Amino acid sequence: MIPYSTQSISEEDIQAVVQQLRSAWLTQGPTVDLFEEALASYCGSRFAVAVSSGTAALHLSMVALGVGHNSLVWTTPNSFVASANCARYTGADVDFVDIDPATYNLSVAQLKQKLEAAERARRLPDVVIPVHHSGLSCDMAAIAQLAQKYGFKVVEDASHALGGSYHDVKVGSCAYSDLTVLSFHPVKNITTGEGGAVLTNDEKLAEHLRRLRSHGVTRDLNSMKYPDGTPWHYEQTELGFNYRITDIQCALGLSQLTRLDAWVAQRNELAKRYDGCFIDTPYQFQQGDPQCLSARHLYVLRVPEGRRDEIGKALRAEDILVNLHYEPIHLQPYYRRLGFKPGDFPEAEAYGNDALSIPLFPALSSEQQNLVISRLTRFFV
Ligand SMILES: *Cc1c(COP(=O)(O)O)cnc(C)c1O
Repeated sequence: MIPYSTQSISEEDIQAVVQQLRSAWLTQGPTVDLFEEALASYCGSRFAVAVSSGTAALHLSMVALGVGHNSLVWTTPNSFVASANCARYTGADVDFVDIDPATYNLSVAQLKQKLEAAERARRLPDVVIPVHHSGLSCDMAAIAQLAQKYGFKVVEDASHALGGSYHDVKVGSCAYSDLTVLSFHPVKNITTGEGGAVLTNDEKLAEHLRRLRSHGVTRDLNSMKYPDGTPWHYEQTELGFNYRITDIQCALGLSQLTRLDAWVAQRNELAKRYDGCFIDTPYQFQQGDPQCLSARHLYVLRVPEGRRDEIGKALRAEDILVNLHYEPIHLQPYYRRLGFKPGDFPEAEAYGNDALSIPLFPALSSEQQNLVISRLTRFFV
């Protein structure tokens, strides 16, 4: 069996977790701080706040930016549902911007058009969430420019993109956004089992995210309204959550992070090999800005001639577990009930009908990759 993605766990990872289990701290301890410092330092952001999942990171990002009832959040339909659900948790309205058929990312041209129309209709978005599909950064300079012009905040969903870069900055630097969200689910580029993080350069936002992660509770004297001098006094200043990550998870994350660059290099080598094998076939693959290093979380082929389902099923029958990332969010029953329908975002819908994620992960052997390639190329000889 060859999955489309899977984690790599080393003996060092296991030892790191065991060592943490033998320590005084299972949660809310120093390894969380160390993991956060390592993430921020790797990505080039000032702060990182680690949480229990990428979804929690997205939800807290919305709350910290003041998104709520009457807010409007835009994202891409070509993402995991969490990219849109995070806004719905707060009661905000969600809308989508169609994708660029070559990059699979939110189309900046479409975003521009939609913003012009939204300005005329006097309902501009409060937040836009670009998603770096497959690990390829969106055009962040262009999005940041539009954010300035139209006054919205930007939250990058970089769940696929840890280890990648945009022009001369690492994804996660927040050079072009307010917040960047990461996920450490086992299929992603590094894992903590479940886990996520929010990166930012804004100290106030980082503090707020930390408070929201733990029930909205503070032990900081300066933030207290009724300090009474006792050591056990704490104050809940707002409604928060328990979205904490454990020290056990962070021990794994720290250990994984040491191999991230090597993994991204391996992913890029495997992807380059796929590119070379598919370039003269009817299959199409993601076209990236050459100034961006993709973190290559996924390798997606677009299958022509209405043959995606047939080819996808044939590969799965041979235990090559190809998958689809993603069925457009707006066509999920929940979003259809909110009024979205087929035809709303044609490029994302076309992608949903012809895309196939094929196996890509650091431990994919060349024998396995050869098998995947030969199984795919035989359909178009
Ligand atoms: C995985 C993923 C998420 C959610 O992350 P979890 O850690 O599974 O909650 C959100 N957005 C995208 C694009 C993802 O791939």
